[in-house]
Amino acid sequence: MTEFKVPKSHPRYESLMKRERIIEGFNKGLVAHAGLIAHGRGEAFDYLLGEKTNDFAKLAEQAAVLKIKQSKAPVFSVNGNVAALAIDEVIALAKALNMKVEVNLFYRTEERVRRIADEFRARGYVVLGEVPDARIDGLEHARALCTKAGIYSADTVLVPLEDGDRTKALRDMGKFVITIDLNPLSRTAQTANITIVDELTRALKNMLEFANMKINNRNAVELLSNYNNEANLSSALLFINSRLSELARHEKQERL
Ligand code: ATP
Ligand code: MG
Repeated sequence: MTEFKVPKSHPRYESLMKRERIIEGFNKGLVAHAGLIAHGRGEAFDYLLGEKTNDFAKLAEQAAVLKIKQSKAPVFSVNGNVAALAIDEVIALAKALNMKVEVNLFYRTEERVRRIADEFRARGYVVLGEVPDARIDGLEHARALCTKAGIYSADTVLVPLEDGDRTKALRDMGKFVITIDLNPLSRTAQTANITIVDELTRALKNMLEFANMKINNRNAVELLSNYNNEANLSSALLFINSRLSELARHEKQERL
């Protein structure tokens, strides 16, 4: 149950609803304590980005969908925040792109994995992750656990809201890593092959649209070979920079 109702007329309705979903997910035992803090970090960056999908994010979303379509064994790695915010979007995109879904947690407890898997089961969807039988190389403790049928043997992993060390470990295993992360400066954003600097639910909705679009093969190959993640991250930082300068100028004029 949500603790308070957000009026639809509120100028930041969308953002407040997402905050409520995270709190609800926390109360249901899906979201870790650190997940609440991570959400706040995301909100702060979304403010800077204007709380909308920018052109550089659209491009990364398109490239990500094309790459997943070309992959042999793509896996969608889901944590508590992702399940709390966008479980229906995860299922829709996984179906559209033929991806397996694996519950994979940084702060792993068997209880939390089961609760997240239960949320998927309640929607008639079966996920991997409850019975780990492999480890991500180079990581210690429970955060290394994964499944052979899923992440361990994947060629491409879509892993939104991920931690930097784990992203690097997946890259070191030779995986193509796609992330969704509002902070263009995070280690995950800097380490992934494709970084979508956009809010999770917006990004997944856009990706579903792209997934259902017909695109000819030549255009797809060209878009992917021209895609440059470093340049894309630069665009995100330059956008924040110019947006802040513009906002600061307006503020100054108002004070004069
Ligand atoms: P890193 O480990 O990559 O350096 P970090 O330690 O700051 O980053 P993590 O908690 O490991 O952060 O990962 C969560 C990331 O997800 C953060 O960069 C945060 O800004 C981002 N984030 C949080 N909520 C959302 C959201 N709804 N949509 C997109 N990104 C989000
Ligand atoms: Mg981290």
